Amino acid sequence: MKVLVLGAGQLARMMALAGAPLNISISAYDVNNDAIVHPLTQQNLGKGLANAIADADVVTAEFEHIPLPVLAQCQQSGKFFPGETAIKAGGDRRLEKQLLDSAGVRSASYHIINNEADFTAAISKLGLPLVFKSALAGYDGKGQWRLKQAEQAAALWQDISAFLAADSKQAIVAEQFIPFQREVSLIGARNSKGEVQVYPLTENHHVNGVLSVSLAVAGNEQLQQQAQQMFTAVANQLNYVGVLAIEFFDVNGELLVNEIAPRVHNSGHWTQQGADVCQFEQHLRAVCGLPLGSTALLRPSLMVNILGEDTVPEQILALPGLHLHWYGKSKRAGRKMGHINLSATDNAQLKQRFEQLIALLPEAAFPELAQMAARLN
Ligand code: AMP
Repeated sequence: MKVLVLGAGQLARMMALAGAPLNISISAYDVNNDAIVHPLTQQNLGKGLANAIADADVVTAEFEHIPLPVLAQCQQSGKFFPGETAIKAGGDRRLEKQLLDSAGVRSASYHIINNEADFTAAISKLGLPLVFKSALAGYDGKGQWRLKQAEQAAALWQDISAFLAADSKQAIVAEQFIPFQREVSLIGARNSKGEVQVYPLTENHHVNGVLSVSLAVAGNEQLQQQAQQMFTAVANQLNYVGVLAIEFFDVNGELLVNEIAPRVHNSGHWTQQGADVCQFEQHLRAVCGLPLGSTALLRPSLMVNILGEDTVPEQILALPGLHLHWYGKSKRAGRKMGHINLSATDNAQLKQRFEQLIALLPEAAFPELAQMAARLN
């Protein structure tokens, strides 16, 4: 099978690596350069998007900020999964909120802001504190503002009105601030027959709004059921085909959706070593119409992101249960350059191995890891 992926980053690369044993070959569309490239070498394959769509058996996506005409072109081919509606809902917080409402799934109460009257209405309707998020092109905490005290509202409106004035397509989604205990995500797949398979809930730790560590250990069955029910409601509402990720706030055992990602997700990278079938293969199976694989947790696992670094101490490779995944990207501050997966037979052993890993990694480049190690008991 030939699969064209919209987006040519590390997610397309890892799809290519997972697809090769199934004879699924991947080409990738580099949206920034309007070029079809090889997902591992980034070599330009010298064909245009229309030809690449025609040559492919299936078209899919690895990120959601794709120009609307490209989405429409792919949708018209009849071979685009999960399709235009799902990708748009992942890329526009207004559509995402509408989707969650129509699926009957809880998320933070919100108000959409296009002008000053909306801004004032959001504050009186929702109360403080509030989180303001750009409707478009927001990710990893970018395009966000916080409002804690009413006296700061006028100054914040100056910032937000300038932001809105710069782009007529933008809006702001104001959300109630959620006092959550932790952030978790559920990665799962739905196929065209409506069958759903989800991985165990993953606990996520962010530093400066960017994912740092994901932890996948056998967890709370009640929370897993709740997440799975919400996942299924959203996936069914979209008639979704492929892997979908949902990020949640855990508030005293009650889950609220933070956001959805209509694709494979950073918090699911641990599945490469910790699950029976990894999220990249699972996504390809779903979009290619192949049977879904088992999502069972094989062993407790965690993932550490490598941000802005192009080397790590080689000795870490000597740790048992450790796998290193580089993305072949050039170094830039804060950039997702690779990740480390670590697995063990039980939680106690995972904690021990994690502590050994932490001792080998430079703390400045890998802050706050000890906090996550303390979660393992
Ligand atoms: P997002 O880009 O929406 O995932 O937001 C980035 C981070 O901001 C999240 O991972 C949360 O830690 C935090 N955040 C986002 N929305 C809220 C909210 N409504 N209440 C509290 N914290 C939030």
